[in-house]
Amino acid sequence: MRNLTNNDTLQLNRPSCVDEYDPTTITVDVARQFILDYIKPLASTDWERIPLRHSMDRVLAEDIIAEMNVPPYDNSAMDGFALHAIDIPQNGTTTLKIVGDSLAGHPFLEECSSGECIRIMTGAMIPAGCNTIIPQEHVELLGAESIKIDGRSRLGDNVRSAGEDIRLGQTVLTCGRRLTAADLGLLSSLGVNNVAVIRRLRVAFFSTGDELQATGEPLQPGQIYDSNRYTLFGMLSRQHCDITDLGVVGDDPVHLYNTLELAAKNHDVIISSGGVSVGAADYIHQVMSELGEIVFWKVAMKPGRPLIFGRLQKALFFGLPGNPVAVMVSFNQFVQPALQRFGGEILHPPLILRAQTRSLLKKRAGRTEYQRGILSQTPDGVSTVCKTGDQGSGILFSMSQANCFIVLTADQTRVEIGSTVIVQPFATWL
Ligand code: AMP
Ligand code: MG
Repeated sequence: MRNLTNNDTLQLNRPSCVDEYDPTTITVDVARQFILDYIKPLASTDWERIPLRHSMDRVLAEDIIAEMNVPPYDNSAMDGFALHAIDIPQNGTTTLKIVGDSLAGHPFLEECSSGECIRIMTGAMIPAGCNTIIPQEHVELLGAESIKIDGRSRLGDNVRSAGEDIRLGQTVLTCGRRLTAADLGLLSSLGVNNVAVIRRLRVAFFSTGDELQATGEPLQPGQIYDSNRYTLFGMLSRQHCDITDLGVVGDDPVHLYNTLELAAKNHDVIISSGGVSVGAADYIHQVMSELGEIVFWKVAMKPGRPLIFGRLQKALFFGLPGNPVAVMVSFNQFVQPALQRFGGEILHPPLILRAQTRSLLKKRAGRTEYQRGILSQTPDGVSTVCKTGDQGSGILFSMSQANCFIVLTADQTRVEIGSTVIVQPFATWL
């Protein structure tokens, strides 16, 4: 593991977050890369074998190598007749005798000779000797005994060959793959009924702030309801972690100290929101400095500028900002890839698209902005995006309405209607 204090990109001081242009900020990419390089994925011994039905969205801890062909035997892609291609006439027609039936699950196990054919249904095994299927629409039935065929068919027509989906010995899925519904189907087609998956990460999270009230309780003057624990709960649920909600911790260093110390004993990751800035009641930095190893970054991004990252005993720690949109953006940019790396998953870069903006977009130079947008397509196929109203870091409604981030780069300031912008759809992480 890299030593947190040995990296020259780190800013360990706590400069004010008010300055607009600030040379001590680091970019999102630098911060994310640092975090990813720092993380050592769960050891290959940290896995469990579970039934296939329980493995949706879990991360594979083994390569899956096919121990059979799929399909296991040549079978028919159509309802029709199985025959020998040499019986197909060059011109004119030929009559073939029907000598049996092959239905899905009920194969015809005898020989079918030249001059004969087998009535066959989709998915049924192709009888020995046959190599071509003629769809029933292309034959003329001569009573129940025989058929007349013409010359339009070719050798191999409508035959699904053994192994055409998966070949025996083929590596179908690799270690680090997060299993999808298609994967579950693929594995069951190979007869696999249990898989080795990396154990779930244990993640604890809490909110900080004396102003926070739990839902269900009446609000007193000066209080707001805690929303960050709910967005964190939702986002962590999508990551399929074992989550522990540690509730709200007041702006009290002793309470924070005790909460963090306890959480570190049996969690892999601890996430807090709020209290990471330089206000009088922001204690996360102070407490984490006493308890663990940390870095504090001002990341050149909006929302989500202050971020604390570090380690507390064996647990990773993320101190996210308090503003509700900043929590979600920081989670998306830093925590989610970190959880994937830690949990042994192979990381894929996020899907980045381009769209024409239907809103005038404004920002200050020098930082990346993640504005919230609605991505759609015009009937003639042009991708367009419009922003979801007010873009303040505390306007959670702008997140709730959105289906993508509009990513405005550090150098951009004013983006006119009709210009092309970068968008990052939410689909895979929200
Ligand atoms: P802080 O980073 O603690 O100064 O918080 C920044 C802003 O986010 C303040 O307006 C807080 O009231 C607000 N905030 C902090 N935590 C939460 C939370 N859990 N739910 C909703 N708003 C919060
Ligand atoms: Mg606070």
